[in-house]
Amino acid sequence: MKPLAEPAIVVVERGEIEIIPENWRAVYFEWLRNIRDWCISRQLWWGHRIPAWHCRDCAGITVARESPSKCAKCGSTKIEQDSDVLDTWFSSALWPFSTLGWPDQTETCASIIRPACSSPDTRSCSSGSRG
Ligand SMILES: [Zn+2]
Repeated sequence: MKPLAEPAIVVVERGEIEIIPENWRAVYFEWLRNIRDWCISRQLWWGHRIPAWHCRDCAGITVARESPSKCAKCGSTKIEQDSDVLDTWFSSALWPFSTLGWPDQTETCASIIRPACSSPDTRSCSSGSRG
């Protein structure tokens, strides 16, 4: 996150982006200069379910776009999807991807969120399981 925070700090320091009201600048800088891990799972009834399946045989975790039929680690079929859902903030960050056609490399998606839509890493996401 730090590589993302640094340019966000710079544009506010230079005045290219203005924080209104002014007193929230301190809060903004505090958050961006002290990046901490954020738990993205919640125990709620609604939301995007965590795309992770737990194996009852080896305790391995399979992460995949589509529901896997077996554990990626040991091949067991005794797997169960994590019952948690993604944090609301995380889910809301998925909105532009959902509405702009990702994982397909649509023209609109590439023009607005080019790094995510065109990076080699995300291209491998569209070919199926990452587990
Ligand atoms: Zn397993």
